[in-house]
Amino acid sequence: MLSATENTTMVAQRGVIARYRDYLPVSETTPVISLGEGSTPLIPCTRLSQRVGNGCRVLVKYEGLNPTGSFKDRGMTVAVSKAVEQRTAAVICASTGNTSASAAAYAARAGIRCAVILPAGKIASGKLVQAYAYGARVVAIDGNFDDALRIVRQLGERPEFAIVNSINPDRIAGQKSAAFEVVEDLRNAPDYHLLPVGNAGNISAYWAGYCEFHTLGKATKLPVMLGFQAAGSAPIFHGRVIDQPETLASAIRIGNPASWTAANAAIRDSSGAIDVVSDDEILDAQRWLASHEGIFVEPASAASIAGLFKCCDAADAAYPFRATPSEGATIVCTVTGHGLKDPEAIRIDASPTVAAMETDVLRVIGF
Ligand SMILES: *Cc1c(COP(=O)(O)O)cnc(C)c1O
Repeated sequence: MLSATENTTMVAQRGVIARYRDYLPVSETTPVISLGEGSTPLIPCTRLSQRVGNGCRVLVKYEGLNPTGSFKDRGMTVAVSKAVEQRTAAVICASTGNTSASAAAYAARAGIRCAVILPAGKIASGKLVQAYAYGARVVAIDGNFDDALRIVRQLGERPEFAIVNSINPDRIAGQKSAAFEVVEDLRNAPDYHLLPVGNAGNISAYWAGYCEFHTLGKATKLPVMLGFQAAGSAPIFHGRVIDQPETLASAIRIGNPASWTAANAAIRDSSGAIDVVSDDEILDAQRWLASHEGIFVEPASAASIAGLFKCCDAADAAYPFRATPSEGATIVCTVTGHGLKDPEAIRIDASPTVAAMETDVLRVIGF
């Protein structure tokens, strides 16, 4: 048996703060609230690379393997550690589901309270289950994510609450760690980095992380950043607030992104682009990735893969990978959350129940 202190030390040694303490806003006296997040695999994908062609090498950064099943844990370990250092009584957030799951888990670990404000009826079932299981106070509002964030900004004026949405800079600081890991795994930055965009904190964080490691000489280049929004929730693409954002990719159903300006700067400074993918393209990409590479992600996460397919299938020669020299670019796609979070997104073809006989079973298997 491990003592409680040993166990805490071991998990903290694996976490984002332990690995990247020097690049984060923490000191020796900051209590480390960790669940061993980060250090997720960067998976080389042979079939995905073949699908892209041009001799490109595609790798998938599988963020669903964080402790609560999404990349949100990278920022949450920093935000909750800082909240505890500042003796905050409670953390509060608006969420499309994954921020609330993560905030609830890290608050439970820290022994502080957590309140989550969610758009009623719009949260994937796995994520809602997490918020309750970790013991958060859940408040559903008759409104969308953008309404929930407005209320959280108001409540955050009160001294008892620390906001742990990505408007909290400690969240973005922690999320830079994903870019650090990519650079360390590849021993350089990739040529292209693709990711889904919702509130736009993550694309901003990756870009900040890449720039920081480039400045430090750990990478000799910077990636082109390509962000993908769902077609019905694409404020950055259209350049205007979307009042009623719609998409089945609930994690990116956001009409007024908090990190809009930073995301635009990342796209501009990296010579990148923002584009849209339809819900059908998202679901096709989700199934493709699970059945061809064994990586099961939630719908929003598959926006980066749908975007990759859109890039490589584009007739337009100016579209990113059409212009790529055939020696082969290194392409990283972040997949942001685990597929089990949103089980309803997968269609199950009910097969008939047969007699408990080898021959009957073999007939249904069909090969
Ligand atoms: C939060 C989230 C996103 C969107 O990230 P932003 O930083 O809000 O752009 C995408 N996918 C999943 C699974 C998420 O949880």
